Amino acid sequence: MSFDSSPDFAKSLDRQDKLASYRDRFFISDQDMIYMDGNSLGRLPLATSQRVNEIIMKEWGENLIRSWGQGWFEAPIRVGEKIAGLVGADHGQVAVSDSTTVNLYKLAMSALMLRPERKKIITDTLNFPSDLYMLQGCSHVLGGKHTIQMLEPADGLRVDTQTVLDAIDSNTALVALSHVVFKSGYMYDAKTITQYAHQKGALVLWDLSHSVGSVPVELDDWNADFATGCTYKYLNGGPGAPAFLYVRNGLQKEALSPIWGWFGERAPFSFELGYTPAQGIQRFLCGTPPVLSVLAMEPGVDLMLEAGIQPLRAKSIQLSNYLMALFDANLAPLGFSLGTPREVEQRGSHVSLRHPDAYQINRALIEEMNVIPDFREPDNIRLGLAPMYTSFHDVWEVVNRIERVITEKRYLRFPATRLSVT
Ligand SMILES: *Cc1c(COP(=O)(O)O)cnc(C)c1O
Repeated sequence: MSFDSSPDFAKSLDRQDKLASYRDRFFISDQDMIYMDGNSLGRLPLATSQRVNEIIMKEWGENLIRSWGQGWFEAPIRVGEKIAGLVGADHGQVAVSDSTTVNLYKLAMSALMLRPERKKIITDTLNFPSDLYMLQGCSHVLGGKHTIQMLEPADGLRVDTQTVLDAIDSNTALVALSHVVFKSGYMYDAKTITQYAHQKGALVLWDLSHSVGSVPVELDDWNADFATGCTYKYLNGGPGAPAFLYVRNGLQKEALSPIWGWFGERAPFSFELGYTPAQGIQRFLCGTPPVLSVLAMEPGVDLMLEAGIQPLRAKSIQLSNYLMALFDANLAPLGFSLGTPREVEQRGSHVSLRHPDAYQINRALIEEMNVIPDFREPDNIRLGLAPMYTSFHDVWEVVNRIERVITEKRYLRFPATRLSVT
């Protein structure tokens, strides 16, 4: 990219952006506000606000319980089939269910039950804490006989593929990693790791929370065993929208959920006293799904399918390359360092900037500069570049406003003591 650091250059990139019109499909109440947190809570699609009204008034208000027979019961599988189109999964392998955290438990337990003789679980210290807690909880429930090996990033940002491969041995039951890690945005080579784990007889569970809707995911091609991920981040599904889970076809006969609920039973409405798991992915559901949330998430998924993952990824790369060029020119001289790998094939769609005063800078951005990034301990300001609605001019603005926070010493007005939600 030939590059200059003027705002006009950003505007020229926006004019060439084929996805630019998707921004108008979202509710944006304040055009001056720079939203850089689409990787934590995606924006509200206009179609969602219409659809939610219809679900509430018509499906719930008018049709009442009849709606269970008119689409509600099938919704988790039906919407799961749509998400399958975003994660490279053939049909019958994806369902919407529970939260990512609960799905991690179900899938990790399922994997450990399939490899009862093996006592090692591999993950990394870059993983999201809830993922690590779930693995610890699984080990606890199973009698504390598993070791959890947490690989450490040599450079603080990434764990090399070879380091992961070297850790996998004949005692390894499960490799559980985030495909794109939440702090540095590092992206693993999922296919190589999955293939090698299989050679060693281990199973692999991928957390796709920061991948789905931002980078191409090819679960079938990777031959992944299990996967789960959030829908309220890049998929714009709404706060607390339920997660999705994937279980590979070839495992579905033997794999069992550790939570035997009626929605995962063969015939929920036969009210049988003994549990017989449903065939296929349905057995990984447990109880009544949050119907309003499942259906409210669907328009966000539809938008992603319409825009297409390849164009979204292409734009996301362009956005992050542009941000890094501005970073080199304007922020590195102010004491920032990059908390994200520079190699395109090793990163997702957010970029972390590190600074010793990051917490105070982040507060000043929110409270004085009308920017919403997020802060991750100890010194990361995360900029989520959701390609659906983030413009190049947004990126220019965020860098410019960060510069002003430093040069005008605005961050010094804020204490370094943490607020409870960052
Ligand atoms: C956001 C995120 C979660 C959150 O899980 P919830 O159950 O939805 O709270 C889990 N794992 C990763 C990697 C995440 O990025």
